[in-house]
Amino acid sequence: LIPEARQAWLEATEKYAGNPSSPHRLGLRAEAALDEARERLAAMLGCAAGDLLWTSGATESNNLALYQCASAAGNRAGVWVSATEHPSVLQPARRHTGAALSLIPAQPDGRPDLDWVQSRLRRSRPALVAVMAANNETGVLQPWKEILELCRERGVPFFCDAVQWLGKLPAVGLGECDYLSGCAHKFGGPRGVGFLKVPRKPRAKSLLHGGPQEDGRRAGTENLPGILSLVAALAARGKVLDAGGHHARQSWKDAFELALKSRLPEVKIIAECEKRLWNTVSAVMPPIGPQQRWVVKLDKAGFAVSTGSACSSGNEKMSHVLEAMGLAPSEAARVVRFSSGWETTREEWETLLDAMVGIHAGVAKKSV
Ligand code: PLP
Repeated sequence: LIPEARQAWLEATEKYAGNPSSPHRLGLRAEAALDEARERLAAMLGCAAGDLLWTSGATESNNLALYQCASAAGNRAGVWVSATEHPSVLQPARRHTGAALSLIPAQPDGRPDLDWVQSRLRRSRPALVAVMAANNETGVLQPWKEILELCRERGVPFFCDAVQWLGKLPAVGLGECDYLSGCAHKFGGPRGVGFLKVPRKPRAKSLLHGGPQEDGRRAGTENLPGILSLVAALAARGKVLDAGGHHARQSWKDAFELALKSRLPEVKIIAECEKRLWNTVSAVMPPIGPQQRWVVKLDKAGFAVSTGSACSSGNEKMSHVLEAMGLAPSEAARVVRFSSGWETTREEWETLLDAMVGIHAGVAKKSV
């Protein structure tokens, strides 16, 4: 939780004791704060406040988007979802759309096949096309702007899971997507709060029932401190982005990758030539024993790294993202993912590199 988000959360818990749906003054004050937060988020994203719903996080937002779309289309029209989406998009897409689901194939560079989308759009009009903004496993930036444009030309609704992009890169243009999801904990806000941009028409069907909140579109008391904290966090990240704070961090990550390849030549950076998030490195590592060994050894050295997707750590199955990109299972099994934060320094990247080289040398020495 970044200081601005913590401050907003603490202030909100003190200041807004009322429930935004209650009719008394305490409730009305809370409701006014909720409305103001919605206006502020809408201004940052570039969309109408009335299109934004508060949720418990991106998993709920993504489920809701797929559910609403599938209900509106009645499973008649197809739904096209990029093969490298987060499971919180892929699984509800399978559940709610069944046979109507088509996976947009991924290319070896980790981007969806644009020609596939373009040529199919000439022939048919699906109920929804879903492509995320940036991939959570590889960091590869996805061509969401191009696909949004193609969908617009054909009058097809476009959904973008912008969880990994928001707060790391400028949000310009994201508000134009018909559906858009995000969550606070990826940009310094609290866990368990997110949002969904969803068109007001056709009227959204709620996944949750039993309350009039969010204009009847999402039942349940809103997490006001979490919401105010989300908005404060995104505003703070926006300021650093406006000042170009991400450029230096991109160069530290690039320098780490270069040095890593030079000191451990067996390393292969996934989607090396693609534009990727400045905080994500996914690399096929030299084998040093069982798959989890890098994670365990780096953990002991003070670095929390991941194998596949962090959201499914402990899951031994090959990552669906790497599989869609055509990586061999033997390589995918050696992938380690490094993610930095805004607070990570250049020195910390360098210390990580030294730790990795040390671990590799130590293992090599033992096996002689
Ligand atoms: N979408 C993407 C791209 C993610 O990376 C994640 C989580 O890491 C989610 C959705 C799920 O978000 P949440 O943890 O808020 O449910």
